Amino acid sequence: MSARRLIILSTAVVLTASAGAVFSAQATGDKAWDLLREILMVPGISSQEKPAADWIQARLPKGVKVERDAKHNVWFTVGSGKPHILFVAHTDELGMTVEAISPDGIVKLKGRGGFLPQALEGRPFVIQTAKGPVEGIILPRPDYMERAPKPFAPAAYELFLGVSSEKEARGLGVAEGQAVIYKKKIIDLTDEILAARAVDDRAGCAAVLAAVLELDLAAIKDRTVTFAWDVEEEIGLFGATELSKVLKPDYVFAVDTFVSSDDPLDNRRFGYAPLGKGLVFRAMDSSNLVPKPELQNIISLAERKGIPYQVSNSRGGNDGSVFLAGGAVDIPLSWPGAHAHSFIEKIVKSDLRALTDLIKAIALEFTGLPGQIPLQK
Ligand SMILES: [Zn+2]
Repeated sequence: MSARRLIILSTAVVLTASAGAVFSAQATGDKAWDLLREILMVPGISSQEKPAADWIQARLPKGVKVERDAKHNVWFTVGSGKPHILFVAHTDELGMTVEAISPDGIVKLKGRGGFLPQALEGRPFVIQTAKGPVEGIILPRPDYMERAPKPFAPAAYELFLGVSSEKEARGLGVAEGQAVIYKKKIIDLTDEILAARAVDDRAGCAAVLAAVLELDLAAIKDRTVTFAWDVEEEIGLFGATELSKVLKPDYVFAVDTFVSSDDPLDNRRFGYAPLGKGLVFRAMDSSNLVPKPELQNIISLAERKGIPYQVSNSRGGNDGSVFLAGGAVDIPLSWPGAHAHSFIEKIVKSDLRALTDLIKAIALEFTGLPGQIPLQK
């Protein structure tokens, strides 16, 4: 490594160390917000979600019959009869895996999910080894000081651990295939707004879990409700695809981030939903279109309950879309989130509360529209 590359490394460390308040587990009195603050810190990159799945399963109410498959999709069902309603939030987060270790101790990484490569340069990451977490910094481009450096590309994902040989790196417990996550911390911009990595979709996980814990599940009688936390959304909706083989809901509510352009720089032609104005019904995205009568029906429930909401459209897909072929209506539920897939995904507490309250209202009171025709048996 050259001396010049070390200069940017030390700058990156200082910047990240002074970037804001550190994680605090202090209870705020809002269950969804408190759960979010905890589950944000649990590692769970796509295909290695076990820690996040374990964390959720450990918090489910005693007495529910929890199901779990080999992929670590976790779910349980209460009630009986029609309609069958499914809530699903994904436990996986963007991350990397260890691809190889160079003779000089530099760890080559492979990306999992859609990071912006240019946002990774000089940033701190943590390898999840059997011996515990091992921290490192993504190396900057060798030509970063040049007038026109080449773009930072995934081929350059290399982690510097502060060691100088492969033997030292392996001595720390580093091995091929291990998960590598961004070194997380929660930045409390105000008491009501936080920014962190993995708000997508740990906020969805927290909202569904908080709803479960706040609901009287025994009161769900005249319908079937399944609460699910699934895997591998970020790399192709694979967890939901697996779930769709065993669950045939009439309605699926995919609970996931709404990528809002609510910040000063983003183009408003991308999905726009102002932060702090309530949950978001994602009426249309690249994978789904909510039928207008169904949208009006769910909006009327939010209106009746006095829950703040917005309706918007976005690019990207959602986990609910894989249930469409089974005849389900997919109504994606979101909160407005800024800076998606970055290390400062922003969320507002009242939006998460609105989302949680609507999940509870749906579980207890949602009635599907009559005359739904199954597309497929
Ligand atoms: Zn997501």
